[in-house]
Amino acid sequence: MTSEYFPEMEFCPECKSIMMPKDELMICRKCGNKIGRSSKAEFISVQKQVSREVPVLEGNVSLQSKTKAKCPACGNGMAYWEMKQTRRSDEPPTLFLTCTKCGNRWRKY
Ligand SMILES: [Zn+2]
Ligand SMILES: [Zn+2]
Repeated sequence: MTSEYFPEMEFCPECKSIMMPKDELMICRKCGNKIGRSSKAEFISVQKQVSREVPVLEGNVSLQSKTKAKCPACGNGMAYWEMKQTRRSDEPPTLFLTCTKCGNRWRKY
């Protein structure tokens, strides 16, 4: 177990040992020092969003993003697109297309 594989892992500010999460706290295995997780967890979740910036940012601007795509329902050639990451991050994100004309929604892999 190293910090590279566990980004939530904290190091004790006192003795620099690895701290283990326990309920709301991070507890140092070596000296027993405890720090609260709540503020840290919030910070980490923000960091995670930034590190996965590609799908997240694309999702945020999706309503303004149009692309040339043929609607299977009405044959319109323009659609709004939205990238959605599935639950498993090892799978490629799914591209959702929404027809600008009839509102039909379909997806592309
Ligand atoms: Zn410690
Ligand atoms: Zn359509």
